[in-house]
Amino acid sequence: MITTTELTDQLPEETVDAVVIGGGAAGLNGALMLVRSRRSVVVIDSGAPRNAPAAGVHGLLGLDGTPPADLLRRGREEVRGYGGRIVAGEVTSVRPAAPSADGDLRFAVTLADGRALQARRVLIATGLRDVLPEVPGLAEHWGHSVVHCPYCHGWEVRDEPIGILAAGPASLHHALLFRQLTDDLVYFTRGTELGEDARGRFAARNIRVVDTPVDAVVAAPDGGIAGVRLSDGQVVPRRVLAVATTLQARTDGLLELGLPMADLPNGMGRHFATGMAGTTEVPGVWVAGNATDLMAQVGASAAAGALAGAHINAHLAAADTEAAFAAAQRDLARV
Ligand SMILES: Cc1cc2nc3c(=O)[nH]c(=O)nc-3n(C[C@H](O)[C@H](O)[C@H](O)COP(=O)(O)OP(=O)(O)OC[C@H]3O[C@@H](n4cnc5c(N)ncnc54)[C@H](O)[C@@H]3O)c2cc1C
Repeated sequence: MITTTELTDQLPEETVDAVVIGGGAAGLNGALMLVRSRRSVVVIDSGAPRNAPAAGVHGLLGLDGTPPADLLRRGREEVRGYGGRIVAGEVTSVRPAAPSADGDLRFAVTLADGRALQARRVLIATGLRDVLPEVPGLAEHWGHSVVHCPYCHGWEVRDEPIGILAAGPASLHHALLFRQLTDDLVYFTRGTELGEDARGRFAARNIRVVDTPVDAVVAAPDGGIAGVRLSDGQVVPRRVLAVATTLQARTDGLLELGLPMADLPNGMGRHFATGMAGTTEVPGVWVAGNATDLMAQVGASAAAGALAGAHINAHLAAADTEAAFAAAQRDLARV
């Protein structure tokens, strides 16, 4: 685990209103909305949020630069403050279970250590996995000298000698965004197509293009990056590399739900397909954050979680009302 959910609560034996799978920005904000509506909520979190390697969360109004672990610690405290439970663990199975006597939905959740829980509704907020291109020496620098997002850490690498390791059509766009941050930009095509038109535009912006294949990333003695070694042995000095990662929603333990998935164009990524407020084709299951919106930053993920949490509460309120009404009708019929 990269970060820890330093305290862990007990799993309740009784059925809870909602289980939230994943305790990042999306899951915790979803849980916060639910607990503030007096819903019983358990967040199960395996403690490896996507931005764990980053020093700070940037571009988040009022909290710019807050270390990711601090933000989540505060979020957990807020959820616990209203009675929510946060359990450290990994969900390995979640599936629909037999409905309650009054016909309400039920889900059975199992953790890697065998513990189990039953919930009325499920919010999936498992985030995504960034898959890096296979270049020797690259992965070691992920989140530090190897970056993907100009809005997350672009300001921090401004004016550095930056290299774009092209991965596909998205890299063209990436190059223009990083050019905004430095005058010293090299575009390594790595066998991807770069037409004459794009080359002309790059030249007009002083973006140097290198077509020689890339062999490896060369580490610097200070722990950062010294450059990029090409197949002809030449080393192009660079301090920062920007890569467009492939974005894969984290689906471990969730496949039994049979949730539909959708693909971004050009193999850029795969995510859970959702509708309004994170609803899915499986009644009782919502998805929020990077698991469904691969481009969402922390603020957007938290907002999506909050919306899904509110929607789940509304769904539960309707179900509670239907159950109470049916019981009242039965009582009347008996009189
Ligand atoms: C290096 C880097 C830097 C970034 N910097 C910024 C930035 O400066 N500003 C910004 O706004 N955004 C930044 N981002 C993007 C940010 O990380 C995401 O927007 C955000 O993490 C999405 O939140 P989330 O809740 O959807 O997913 P996550 O934060 O990834 O949380 C998902 C959680 O679910 C847990 N989980 C997954 N599967 C299971 C399971 N089966 N059982 C239990 N738990 C599970 C994970 O362990 C994790 O804790 C950065 C991303 C990266 C990679």
